[in-house]
This record gives sequence, C-alpha cells and structure tokens, in this order.
Amino acid sequence: MNKKQENKAFCIAPWTHTFISPQSERRLCCASREEFQFARQYLDSNFQSNNFTQSHYEPVTLEEYWNGDFIKSIRKKMLKGEVPDECSVCHEKELTLSTYQDYFTNDLFPHLIEEAIQNTKEDGSTTLMPRSFDYRFDNTCNFSCRMCGDQLSSRWEKEKINHNLWNLKDDPWLEPELNHKIKDFQSNVVKAEFNRALMNNQIEEIYWVGGEPLLWDIHWKSMSYLVSSGNADNTIIRYNTNLSKIHYDGMNLFDDLLIHFKKVILLVSIDGSGEIGEYIRTGLNWKKWKGYLQEAKQCSLKNKNIELALDITLTLPGLFSLKEMILLANELEIPIYPKLVYAFDPTIILSPLSLPRDLLNNLLNELIKFNILHLSDYTKGMLELLIDIKQRKTHEEKYPNDFQSGREQGKKKLLQIESIRKDSFTLESILSANPQILNWWRSI
Ligand code: SF4
Repeated sequence: MNKKQENKAFCIAPWTHTFISPQSERRLCCASREEFQFARQYLDSNFQSNNFTQSHYEPVTLEEYWNGDFIKSIRKKMLKGEVPDECSVCHEKELTLSTYQDYFTNDLFPHLIEEAIQNTKEDGSTTLMPRSFDYRFDNTCNFSCRMCGDQLSSRWEKEKINHNLWNLKDDPWLEPELNHKIKDFQSNVVKAEFNRALMNNQIEEIYWVGGEPLLWDIHWKSMSYLVSSGNADNTIIRYNTNLSKIHYDGMNLFDDLLIHFKKVILLVSIDGSGEIGEYIRTGLNWKKWKGYLQEAKQCSLKNKNIELALDITLTLPGLFSLKEMILLANELEIPIYPKLVYAFDPTIILSPLSLPRDLLNNLLNELIKFNILHLSDYTKGMLELLIDIKQRKTHEEKYPNDFQSGREQGKKKLLQIESIRKDSFTLESILSANPQILNWWRSI
C-alpha cells in the first residue's frame, strides 16, 4: 500500500471529515464533485442533469454513510493511488491554488495517515471515526450575496419564493412539504449527530459555515460548551462568516469564545469595499463590518492562535474595488485568501472570465501592477491569483458555441435581481469606471 508521500491521490478527509449540506446531501467534503441525490449544488458532477425527481429525498444518517458503498470505494481508490473523479477541485486546483486536500492531509491530520491505512479493510471500511465536522444545519443567512443562492441563504430563498423565481423541477426542496421534511431531518438527526460527537469528545475540528453560522443557536451553544467543559484547548475551529453578528446572549464572540481555542482560522468573507462590497454582498453594512473586523484583529493580536484572513471571492465587480481591498489588507495586516468565483457555465456573468480577453488582460495588468507596488505577505496570495487568472480560458475561449447566449442569459438574470432589490447602485454603475468595459456590458 502506498504511503502518502508517494501517493498523490491520497487524502485523509474520507477517514476524518464529514460534510452535510442544508438540504441533507452528504459529501466527502465541501469541495468534492459528486452526483447529487436531491438538491443540486453548483459543484456537482451531474449539475446539468435533469434526471431527478422529488422522490430522491432519502437522507442517510452519518452511521449509514460512514462505511457505505460510496465512501468505501473512494478510500479503496485513494489507497490504490487512483485519483477519484470527485476530487478534481483539489487535483486540478479548480478554485484555489492551495488545496483542501493539503489542508486535511498535511496541515490537520498528518499524524493519522498511518493509522488510517492500518485501519482500513480491503473493502474500504474503516474503524476510524469522523473528527472534523462541516455540518450546515440550515441555510439561515441575513445576506443574499449575488454569487450565492437559495440553498445557502434563507434571504435568497425568501426572495425566490416571493417573486416566484423557482420551479419544482429545478428546486424540489422548496416544495413546502419536502422543505418541512428536510428541516425535520436536519434538526432531529443532523443536530443530534453533531451534539453526540461533541459530548463524546470526538470532535477535533469544526468548520462553521452556513448559511451564516453566527446566526445559529447551535454555534453559540456548542462553542460555549467547549469552553466551559475545558475542551476548547483541544479543538480547532474554522469559520467562513460574513461577520455581521458578534454578540449572543451576553457573549462576545472574540473575548468570551475564540480566545480559548487551540486554534481558530477566522475567514471573513468580503468581496469588495464600500458601495461595491455592499452591492456584491446584499445585506452588508460596510462601516459596521469594518468595525467588527477591527475588533477581530485586536483579538488576534491578543491570541496568536487566532489566524484572521479576508476570504475574497473574486468577481467582475469586485475587481473594481480590489485596490482598496489590497490597501485594507496592508493597513490592518490581515492576509487575503482569494478564490475565483466558480464559473461552471457561461451564464456566470459575475465571473471576471466573462470579459473578452483583451479587456480582461488590460484590467488584470493594471491590478497586477498595483498589487506589485503594494506587495506584502498580506497581499501576495492575491497577486498569485491575478497572475493565474491570466492563464485561464475566458468564457469566449472555453465555450465558443454558447458564450454569447450564456452571457445574455446571465445579464438578464442579474438585471432581474437588481430590479427586485430596487438597486440604485448597479453593476453598470460599477463598470462605468472603465469606459471600454462599460461599452462591452451595454453591447450584451
Ligand atoms: S481530495 Fe479534495 S475533494 Fe477529495 S476528499 Fe480530499 S479534500 Fe475533498
């Protein structure tokens, strides 16, 4: 059996980590590309498929999943040195340059590799138990960021329902009766699994991501339990949060909770500054957010185990305030962990790759120059990504037959949302800072 060092296919996640979406879809991790059973997610391998019906809502418990046929086959493949198709996001660096596989295998659990290999039978079953949880209990969120959607944001869900923007075929989980069933399963089964693991001291890492985890009671209660039971010292915490709420029931997130943990990776989502940030992330109050970010920074200065970073998803409008974001990262000495918005088809007009090649390169060259002039440890990740984007295919290059109709469809959808939200500051307002790009936008 190959050791990890010689086996690039191996990832420790299927032995240590467990994920469930707000619609009860279990995955190896949030980055794996699998076939959806019921509620399609943008990363799914069968995302385009229409071959599903409501009857597929057959959620499984963690116990049924953990040594079930699917994950056993993945373990077997990895141990044989075969890269599972599901792991292309890591192996082809589709979203970020640093991969989730490396995080789990090299950073978090390198000491478990031998144990995992020794405790896996020929059929792929293992006696190891999950110790890292990414449980998305529900989609409660007070934001409706434009590149997000109803599955991960209740505000998006409400908007879609109120404006009749959904249909049973594409969004079976929104059908009231099924929606109710999902909520039941998530509350009664999923929360119970998590609480059981918590009480059994089985959890070594929690990834809080939603919805918006800071709006969940279970977040505050379990974090408070870990502190009061003395287990915080042994637990690593990761967040993806919009940082819109830092108080709950008399507790302050930073001073009462985070300072007690073994390690905290606090990734604060933000995709643009000021008005542009508020446009991209509907619900954001830039001024209030910046105040909370400064508090987070103060807390990280008091406790070196708190790693704070700006989690920037790079979008077309976001490019127009990227210089401010670079300056902010340098001013507050907070690194940027950037990723590119995932463009799974040419309708994703918010992707920088929707621009024609010459306009994209001109914009990127200007930003690369600015980034180099303000280069620091905090902004070098952004520079790497900007350079990398130049090597990627634009929509026009990747989808030569469909890009035209795709971008028309993408623009129509975006304008519809702007109209529903009664935006006075629009994508057109943002793009007007660059006359050539504005002309391109108007020509679609
Ligand atoms: S290789 Fe990547 S996608 Fe596959 S299980 Fe590991 S972290 Fe998830």
